[in-house]
Amino acid sequence: MWLPKIRELKEALGSLFSAPYTTKFPKDMSAVDLPDGFRGFPRYDASACVGCGTCAQVCPTRAIDVIDNTKKKIRTLRVNYNQCMNCGQCEEKCITKTGITLTKEFTLVVTDLSDSSAFESVEKELAVCEVCGAVIGCKDHLAWIKDRLGAKAYAHPNLLLWTQEQFSQSGPAEVKDRIRREDQIKMVCAKCRYRIVVADEF
Ligand code: SF4
Ligand code: SF4
Repeated sequence: MWLPKIRELKEALGSLFSAPYTTKFPKDMSAVDLPDGFRGFPRYDASACVGCGTCAQVCPTRAIDVIDNTKKKIRTLRVNYNQCMNCGQCEEKCITKTGITLTKEFTLVVTDLSDSSAFESVEKELAVCEVCGAVIGCKDHLAWIKDRLGAKAYAHPNLLLWTQEQFSQSGPAEVKDRIRREDQIKMVCAKCRYRIVVADEF
């Protein structure tokens, strides 16, 4: 009858002076041993990402938004961790291989879903059409294409002009209301290039 009580008392006293079995998770992550290949939240590497938007296209939960600001000429790629299911598709299909990679971070505690810690983003400079102002792509993406094409890149006016822009002080021209003959050697979108080269709409 008294034996179990004595045993319980012994265990209670033992527990009182021994280290706790529980950890201070998530404050103390030292006891969390994550295996290799663990898929946590994705993070961008601003120097490796070229802003192509492939990660957003392959994301099965549409957790990545591509937000183009044509006035500021900035593209923002933003991952919403509330929607991310850590599948790794963005990392696997990234054209530069390291533009976005999965970390081992997996805890997200917010009381407001719009809390900034629930988002991860990167900003890239945009190239816009000098005739109509439409988005052509990110400048880093153009550089990435140019490097892959080598000398063949000089056959495309946009890639040629972007290369020249790096060595000259003159930036892109302002957007105009109509196509002019000189627009043949401007950075323009595919639609305006068609109007200049094929439709000959001067
Ligand atoms: S890990 Fe999967 S769900 Fe999360 S952002 Fe990447 S592609 Fe989307
Ligand atoms: S370079 Fe990679 S991370 Fe950057 S936008 Fe393209 S696919 Fe996404």
